[in-house]
Amino acid sequence: MGGGQLGRMFAIAARRMGYRVHTLDPTRDCPAGQVADVETCAAYDDIAAAEQFAHAVDVVTFEFENVPSQTLAAIEKIRPVRPSPFILDTTRHRLREKNFLSSIDVPVAPFRAVRSSDELQNAVAELGTPCVLKTAEFGYDGKGQSKIESIEQCESAWASLNCPLGVLEGFVRFTSEISVIVARNPAGDMRAFDVFENAHVNHILDITTVDSRPTPSLPLKLRERATQLARTIALKLELVGLLCVEMFVTQDGDVIVNELAPRPHNSGHVTFDACVTSQFEQQLRAVCGLPLGDTTLLRPAAMANLLGDVWLAARSRAKDSNPRWDAALVDPFVKLHLYGKTDPKPGRKMGHLTATGADVVEAAARVVAARERL
Ligand code: AMP
Repeated sequence: MGGGQLGRMFAIAARRMGYRVHTLDPTRDCPAGQVADVETCAAYDDIAAAEQFAHAVDVVTFEFENVPSQTLAAIEKIRPVRPSPFILDTTRHRLREKNFLSSIDVPVAPFRAVRSSDELQNAVAELGTPCVLKTAEFGYDGKGQSKIESIEQCESAWASLNCPLGVLEGFVRFTSEISVIVARNPAGDMRAFDVFENAHVNHILDITTVDSRPTPSLPLKLRERATQLARTIALKLELVGLLCVEMFVTQDGDVIVNELAPRPHNSGHVTFDACVTSQFEQQLRAVCGLPLGDTTLLRPAAMANLLGDVWLAARSRAKDSNPRWDAALVDPFVKLHLYGKTDPKPGRKMGHLTATGADVVEAAARVVAARERL
């Protein structure tokens, strides 16, 4: 379910292994639909369409978590839903997610639920400034999020949230942002990828780097701690599928969990070109009940996202002009991934570049230079 780029890359991995893929998404000719065997075009709350879809497949999995509970309940009566509706319901709601993480003693930023401007003021007084107000649902890439620097900002911050339930979080002064992607299959086997280090621009992931060797910013102890947390969360959730755990690294070397995604994740895109098994094949293996694949990183690697802005810049130079793919690919270590989206918008994820190198510095330099040549 879901027809974006995560579904597209899942479908590519699945078809390579001889599986047939059926997608459900409200938009026709969506990125996943373009490479699937069958494309159902229906709204996520169309229960009859979801039931028909479920009858046509063997197992249902997801590339995003905002499928209504009623739809999940209807599908679950017909076919296995992996990850479970409980996991999807928990992880797509920031408050439920944070309550769950706290209940299993996983460190998260201090938080409060807020339902009004008054409640927000009280919560800001309790947590102190700065802090971050987020919508409880439907937030991604920093959307539905605002930083509060003073009590006076509460009224306007609450008004612009435009949502009945918000979550206020203490501001984390992190030194880096990392993620761990872990898979678990129905037999209970678990495997995690190496720790990804993520740099954001305007709250959107910009560059990911990964090295299996300890680096100054990611020493061994930190890697072990982050991986152990991700494994604990997967186990407590009784995960069957893939889970990405996004975390902050604090100045004193602690790890704080920011959020969970029960699906492939943008930070794991390098695995397609740099690991024995990609995150997409691993999701497939987990939800189809196969043994999990080895997650070894073959070489240090980096990924740079390509947002719609790249296309808009090309068009501003010359009408109907495209980014210079030939120029980017002059470096033979650079790989191009495009998602088949035709409508570039600022901040919209349209594709990405990956590269490997002798170390993460070289790999990152390659993708950044290739993107600049576009
Ligand atoms: P999110 O939508 O929660 O993934 O947030 C998007 C980005 O905003 C994160 O990757 C961080 O860079 C930043 N951010 C989110 N929450 C916090 C926080 N509590 N403290 C500091 N930065 C944050």
